[in-house]
Amino acid sequence: MSQPKPLIGVTASLAENQTDPCTSSSYLHALSESGALPLLLPLSLSKQDCIQLCNMLDGFLFTGGPDIHPFSFGEETLEGCGSLSALRDRTELLLFSIAHARKKPILAICRGVQLVNTALGGTLYQDIRKQTERTLPIAHRQPYSPSVPSHHVNVTPDSLLYKITTSETLEVNSAHHQAVHHPALSLRVSAAAFDGIIEALEQPEYPFLLGVQWHPELLFDSQAHARALFSAFVEAARSENT
Ligand code: MN
Repeated sequence: MSQPKPLIGVTASLAENQTDPCTSSSYLHALSESGALPLLLPLSLSKQDCIQLCNMLDGFLFTGGPDIHPFSFGEETLEGCGSLSALRDRTELLLFSIAHARKKPILAICRGVQLVNTALGGTLYQDIRKQTERTLPIAHRQPYSPSVPSHHVNVTPDSLLYKITTSETLEVNSAHHQAVHHPALSLRVSAAAFDGIIEALEQPEYPFLLGVQWHPELLFDSQAHARALFSAFVEAARSENT
């Protein structure tokens, strides 16, 4: 019998004023194509649910979505902050804390990297344009399709991201107005844009914890580095279920 595929829990999104969980099929496509079996999680999870999921699943993907409530990183709501979901914040912070304590492989995308940074004690820019002065103001909300790269990131040498992509520079897409401000003390910057905005974080000495500000799932069919990222994550999850 063939080996079972790694099971990856995918956090669901919900649009403003909606109650239905939803996701972009591109996350599921990228995971499936990389050899995993993705499962979309409910929007509401108790602590006991999260513990049970950690017993059953081999890894977690924290997906993109709305802003994170500024109270989560100790700030007032500033002008420029966007819409958010208190339910999603609560569920994802709970799930992350339990999955992280269990050292589960974690890939975090866009809102996901902001969630990971917040959960571990870092802070965010609530709005890049309102809170930063940049000599080279890169458009982090690109004016065209996110299936096309819009800016570059410099990858930190010797980082996990470098080991995975084997590139010093990556072409990435960009669909965010929040960003990591102060990284959590336990996290390392693994990539940054030319305007200084942090674009990826990882936790050294953790089996696999990587967060990227771009959307590799939308570059999966066009960029080798996006496929390498999902492949490395799924392999880390595979070693969990053997
Ligand atoms: Mn960007």
